[in-house]
Amino acid sequence: MLEEDFGLIQLSTGDLLRAAVAAGTDAGKQAKAVMEAGQLVSDDIVLAILKDRMAQPDVAKGIILDGFPRTAVQAEALDRLLAAAGQKITAAISLEVGDAAMVARVAGRYTCAGCGEGYHDQFKHPATAGVCDKCGGLGFKRRADDTATTVRDRLTAYHAQTAPLITYYDGKGVLERLDAMGPIADIRQALGAIVQGVAA
Ligand code: AMP
Repeated sequence: MLEEDFGLIQLSTGDLLRAAVAAGTDAGKQAKAVMEAGQLVSDDIVLAILKDRMAQPDVAKGIILDGFPRTAVQAEALDRLLAAAGQKITAAISLEVGDAAMVARVAGRYTCAGCGEGYHDQFKHPATAGVCDKCGGLGFKRRADDTATTVRDRLTAYHAQTAPLITYYDGKGVLERLDAMGPIADIRQALGAIVQGVAA
């Protein structure tokens, strides 16, 4: 949504890792089992993949990092990487959702196999059942790690290793907290207002 609304590039380490797994690279082979278990892939692998992607020219206008950083080591490495490029973080947005709601959201989501548009068993159906609103595609897929059990393991990793970064970014004065318990349209609007405010 932020890509559509603001023309920014979304960069997700999860997407980059899934592409590495699908391509069967060395990094992908090492990451596969860790991802299936809902644990965090090593900082070295994630940072190498991210650095490669950030070296490409399309990131110049600004990026939304999604699912990164997830550890203090990654956050500090990101600061160094950006400083070397004369850049810095404009905002770190904490989308705040309770654990039970998060399990329901993630375990119920699926995407169009053709264009990647996101849907949800409860919260977002295609207008015509079985047909993607965006591209008319008929195939849909779910991530292997989007089962309720694995989502709970991912939340455990989140609370232990990632939640402390909220304090890290608060200390840098860039933290934006967003109560993300509401419906999709409300969150889109609130998120847009935050990005509008900091991107100006
Ligand atoms: P995501 O697509 O962000 O939900 O990530 C899916 C999985 O990829 C996670 O459960 C981790 O195993 C791995 N992963 C994605 N991003 C990172 C990261 N920044 N650090 C470590 N592991 C990651």
